[in-house]
Amino acid sequence: MILNTALSKIAMYQSWKSLDPGPKYPIDIRFAAMPALTKKNIRDNFPQGVVPSDMDIEQGLANGEIQLVETSGTTDDKVTNIWNQKWWDASERASWQLNSYMSKIATGNHREAILVNPRNVGTISDNVDLPVEKRRLARFLYLNEKTDPLSWSNAIMDRMIRELDTYQPAVLEANPSYLARLCRYITDTNKTVFQPGAIVFTYEYPTIYHYLQIHRVFSKVLLISSYGSTETGYVFMQCEECKWHQNSEFCRVDFQPFLPEHGGPLLGRILVTPLNNPWSYLVRFDAGDIVRLEETGKCSCDRSSGLILASIAGRKANLTLTCSGRLVTLLELDTVMGRLKGIDMYKLIQTDRSNYELHLVSRAPEGKNLTEAVIPELKKLYGREAGITVIHDPDIAPENSGKYLVSGTLFPIDLNNYLDKRNILRLNEGGI
Ligand SMILES: [Zn+2]
Repeated sequence: MILNTALSKIAMYQSWKSLDPGPKYPIDIRFAAMPALTKKNIRDNFPQGVVPSDMDIEQGLANGEIQLVETSGTTDDKVTNIWNQKWWDASERASWQLNSYMSKIATGNHREAILVNPRNVGTISDNVDLPVEKRRLARFLYLNEKTDPLSWSNAIMDRMIRELDTYQPAVLEANPSYLARLCRYITDTNKTVFQPGAIVFTYEYPTIYHYLQIHRVFSKVLLISSYGSTETGYVFMQCEECKWHQNSEFCRVDFQPFLPEHGGPLLGRILVTPLNNPWSYLVRFDAGDIVRLEETGKCSCDRSSGLILASIAGRKANLTLTCSGRLVTLLELDTVMGRLKGIDMYKLIQTDRSNYELHLVSRAPEGKNLTEAVIPELKKLYGREAGITVIHDPDIAPENSGKYLVSGTLFPIDLNNYLDKRNILRLNEGGI
């Protein structure tokens, strides 16, 4: 069992040993007694301290079983991981079973086009346009080799459209913001494009505007959201009823509710323990995801293994605070922003406790009136005393990680102050 192995054989968990109530207790109680594992823990112990002391990383690298992969991001975010392709593929295959439609069209041999930042996956080539054969790998076609999507010329976007027409992928996997950008171009130029069997969103939170812009072009295509990370593999997949199901065969998920005044007990953060990966022993890894549990605990698709979520509410890095200090998730902000008309993109940054900077991109005629329309809406959300500065931008660039930041704060938020400890302790008391 992964917790026993972690505590007995892995250097990173030595300080956790004294917290373990012991093997006599139910596994949920033992997990609940453990802290959250952070990227800093991994960085401080990498590489030999994150695997059992008898595992030979050099040998795993030499025989090609594993690779070392550095995730992109800020210094705080950056971490090197042991990448096990075989496990990753198996985790992805299992996630397809959580959506009836995906389980039919995703055979494992199906053609897949990928529209993401090459910093996340693919080959980077900012100065030279790569010919299609340099962007093909097995059953995959990488549509984009540029780290900055703002540099996409019309010729590059025409190439993407042409390649989708020729390649005819069963699945198009995309960063929603990147696909939305391509879709805005397709709509503006009255072009049409091949319709794949399904579009799967990865890497980023899809906003209401992403959905609208993509749906306008891919009106007959099923848009499915998949959730996970380099460290955890595929954790949640949206089913055909639009709820999220845990990929239980490949991960354990611990849910920690927020305090009621911050959206608990249904809203909270998750800690993920990947399973079945002989090279990964991450216990209760905090990938920074904020989720809302499905209140009934059920879904009409009848899948019942693991957690069922009503929604993914964004990441910790997307949280903002009202002027009175209440947590606001990206989902809550996006629901407010989604009511407005004429927005192409937006980014909201909270600069201090009561000031907010909203960047807006709009090419629509109603765009010039957006300032007057958006301020009252944001004051309703954040408080009457909120100082809202609206900045009209011609475009918004992604972060260095290759992902777009839709919302966030310039100051740190320590989630430990918002967790409902009574609720977590109650679980402990039940068993101890
Ligand atoms: Zn379902």
